[in-house]
Amino acid sequence: MRDGPAASAQRRRGAAASSREWRVSQPGALAPEAERGGAPRRLSNAGPRRARKRFGQHFLEPAWVEKLLRAVAPRTDDTFFEIGPGRGALTRPLTARCGRVVAFEIDRDLAATLRDEAPRHLTIVEGDFLDVTPDCLRDLLSNTGSSPRVVGNLPYNAASPILFKLVELYSAGIALLDATVMLQREVADRLAASPGTREYGVLSILIGHAAGVERLFTLPPGAFRPMPKVWSAAVRLRFHPPDPPATDPSVFAAIVQAIFTRRRKTLANALLAYPAAGRPKAGRQSSVPEVLRLADLDGRRRPETLSITELVRLADVFASVSRRAVL
Ligand code: SAM
Repeated sequence: MRDGPAASAQRRRGAAASSREWRVSQPGALAPEAERGGAPRRLSNAGPRRARKRFGQHFLEPAWVEKLLRAVAPRTDDTFFEIGPGRGALTRPLTARCGRVVAFEIDRDLAATLRDEAPRHLTIVEGDFLDVTPDCLRDLLSNTGSSPRVVGNLPYNAASPILFKLVELYSAGIALLDATVMLQREVADRLAASPGTREYGVLSILIGHAAGVERLFTLPPGAFRPMPKVWSAAVRLRFHPPDPPATDPSVFAAIVQAIFTRRRKTLANALLAYPAAGRPKAGRQSSVPEVLRLADLDGRRRPETLSITELVRLADVFASVSRRAVL
């Protein structure tokens, strides 16, 4: 994985919204017609302005909007979090078809334009989605009965950290139902990869542990303006409790990240990249052989052949062995 969840969150924060206050629009305050009981304001497509590369801006062409919305199948009582509404290509038709949309946009100019035009049931939050906290989402969700859903044409440069963020929010008690997202096709391949394949790795394992992954369709570069150099794919994640649960999720994540830095080595060798395994106490050998025996795993296997269940078993042995202070 190029970006570890924590490292990339930090990188994004530094690059974007570190000193910026979160700004949440007051629903209705900027929708005078709706408040007066007239027709709700329609969001217009904000005028052309140079796309900002640093925010991964590739705006979806109208021809593809309906295809994505058909896959999302919004219901009138659904609440959506949209990540990166941009000029509102998805936001407008989605807002027209569901109960409520809360959209997070890092680009203050785009956020301001959307906010100026937002009808009552669209809330624009200006800021970095990677900085959002469970409490902030709970505040935004007050009075909302249904489990929130997520939609987003994700910025390529932050897609993996955003996916990790969604899992983190789900683990922290935000009962996300699903997420329909567009991302680089190679990232979709990694998300949906099976053990033993070249694409299988940290992303497949840490996301696959907490969500079912369904590939929906692919999009050519021409589906966006400006055109990216790569193809994209739409993917649906359905969140579920970690399966199987890990005794200590942080140990599980750390082991997976460590051993996939040495994915071509044997498991016994790769495990030495995990600090607790690679740093034997004075006078003792590394405990890797003992851990492998307890986890019933052959140390000659390559990390990329291990299923999620086997990796959780390995992490659980590490967690229990560390608790007994054997390491
Ligand atoms: N949804 C729009 C569309 O489909 O036309 C825009 C999609 S564009 C690929 C990604 C959008 O995400 C941009 O508007 C960008 O400014 C915004 N963005 C990038 N990083 C973000 C972040 N960390 N938090 C919130 N929005 C972000």
